[in-house]
Amino acid sequence: MEQPRDQFGRPLTDLRISVTDRCNFRCTFCMPEDRAYEFLPRAEVLSYEELIRLARLFVSRGVEKIRITGGEPLLRRDLSHLIEGLAGIAGVDDLALTTNGLLLPQRAPALRDAGLDRVTVSLHSLEAATFARLTGGRGDLDGVLRGIEAAAAAGLTPVKINAVVLRGQNEHEIEALARRFRGDDYVLRFIEYMDVGTLNDWDPESVVSAREIVDRIDRVLPLEPAPRRSPNDTALRYRYRDGGGEVGVIASISQPFCGDCSRARLSAEGRLYTCLFSAIGHDLKTPLREGADDAQLIERIDQIWGTRRDRYSEERADRLSQGRPGVAPRVEMFRIGG
Ligand code: SAM
Ligand code: SF4
Ligand code: SF4
Repeated sequence: MEQPRDQFGRPLTDLRISVTDRCNFRCTFCMPEDRAYEFLPRAEVLSYEELIRLARLFVSRGVEKIRITGGEPLLRRDLSHLIEGLAGIAGVDDLALTTNGLLLPQRAPALRDAGLDRVTVSLHSLEAATFARLTGGRGDLDGVLRGIEAAAAAGLTPVKINAVVLRGQNEHEIEALARRFRGDDYVLRFIEYMDVGTLNDWDPESVVSAREIVDRIDRVLPLEPAPRRSPNDTALRYRYRDGGGEVGVIASISQPFCGDCSRARLSAEGRLYTCLFSAIGHDLKTPLREGADDAQLIERIDQIWGTRRDRYSEERADRLSQGRPGVAPRVEMFRIGG
């Protein structure tokens, strides 16, 4: 059976699985701490068996890369069992995890042993006070740095570091972060602050563009562009001219990459989102729990992907150039995991 293509001919090659909507941080740009959150009741969250079954079906439809995310995925008990199940699916050639890193010191070796290939740790500041402020008073900088070291020590190298850059908050740390995470053990990715969800009061003025980020680094650590690794690589890559490894920028605001977007996102409650900025997800849990067989679930996945027309970031770029930012209803980032 031919693998599905969406309305713009894009295949489905990446699946991001959110395993929980809960988080032990309250990052200002994702889950501002002054809001009240209602989390999913446990019975609504997909079990590991359900996730592994769905993942196997997605792989049969073209998915090669799987990333576990959240919320904070390490809050989910015995995550290694899920990793082991996913690593055992023939056809998965990249199994990764995005985490805020706080719980990594205890978990990194078991995750590696279970078959995890790579880990991305989100770290937006190297100053204890700034880090604490950006994480809503709940993040512990030393703990996250220990988590990064533990991941490297467990062999999950190169460890990717994600740093969201916010105007006037941590932009002065771009060079320090670049210096700290150079070399073969790390790959630092700066992320342009995005208008995900509806809670973070995003405005275009708070975005530091990829161009500005790269120029700032280049002034102190000269850079040269590096080729994209694959067509659906989200980051613009640069190499340090002195051989000190690479750095990247995810420029979803200033240089959107919807044309190559082949990612689907499964929320913890089993809804499938075909775009980070979708307002609604497609329910897979109901058919799954009502006894649909594999063929019926595959038909549903193909139908959802086959009718996909998402290109939100490109549309946003058009709107911004016409001075119309606009906030449409959309899912919160902590529910689908970035
Ligand atoms: N809790 C984990 C973490 O923070 O790594 C995984 C989930 S988090 C939603 C996934 C990624 O989205 C993180 O790297 C986070 O920094 C990023 N993120 C969250 N809100 C963002 C925003 N408004 N703009 C850009 N990136 C954002
Ligand atoms: Fe939690 Fe990650 Fe969102 Fe921060 S970015 S609040 S760590 S889910
Ligand atoms: Fe993909 Fe939507 Fe992001 Fe465009 S805006 S790259 S379609 S997730």
